[in-house]
Amino acid sequence: MKHDKKNIMLILSSPSGVGKTTLTKKIQQKYPNFKVSISHTTRKPRSNEVNGVDYHFVSNEKFEELISSNMFYEYAKIYKNSYGTSKNSVDESIKKNDIIFDIDWQGTKQLSKHKKLELVKIFLVTKNREEVKKRLIGRNQNSDEEIKQRFNSFLEDVKHWVDYDYILINDNLDQCFKQIEKIIFDQKKFSLTRINLSTYSNALV
Ligand code: ADP
Ligand code: 5GP
Repeated sequence: MKHDKKNIMLILSSPSGVGKTTLTKKIQQKYPNFKVSISHTTRKPRSNEVNGVDYHFVSNEKFEELISSNMFYEYAKIYKNSYGTSKNSVDESIKKNDIIFDIDWQGTKQLSKHKKLELVKIFLVTKNREEVKKRLIGRNQNSDEEIKQRFNSFLEDVKHWVDYDYILINDNLDQCFKQIEKIIFDQKKFSLTRINLSTYSNALV
């Protein structure tokens, strides 16, 4: 897949409740060229979620079918549900837009194997584990059982930050957002320099 090198693919991962969704929305609001990759999932929609906007909600059978037809760049089982990123929508979207992926460490590992995808990988954490519990409870979107499950996977999740390009502490939201903005700008500058260099070297021959 050839794509405009000015467009970037930004992965945001974190233990549940750190702030991926909040930061993704802030990026989209300020930079409309960023589109969120809409994953497929077998999870049931929450009351505030819309099919085709937050996720493509599908049955287990449909998900298996998509795996068999090699439709995913990556997929993973998380908290007993399956989640996956469709190749077609990423390949189409990157032609015109920057993409944000809100995916876990398993998906990041798989996406990283596709060398043609130029990824910028950010792992977000809170300043401590208790803060995540507070945010999960405060978000008021999960049952007690789900909160426990998500909180318990915190230590396993953070083990995988070594696979990322940047690790950011989402303590002060605005400050964290500024750090992400800087990463985006630096990456865009880097990509443009590479395009210019490649045009220049083509002109030399
Ligand atoms: P995730 O998508 O990583 O599971 P969310 O974006 O849903 O996390 O955030 C979880 C909760 O934490 C939300 O209620 C959100 O408003 C809150 N939150 C996010 N970032 C911060 C922050 N820097 N400080 C305090 N609360 C935050
Ligand atoms: P939630 O059910 O709270 O929306 O998401 C649970 C977890 O699944 C989050 O860590 C989120 O980043 C991850 N996730 C969402 N979509 C995908 C996907 O397509 N692939 C992978 N690997 N993880 C995903």
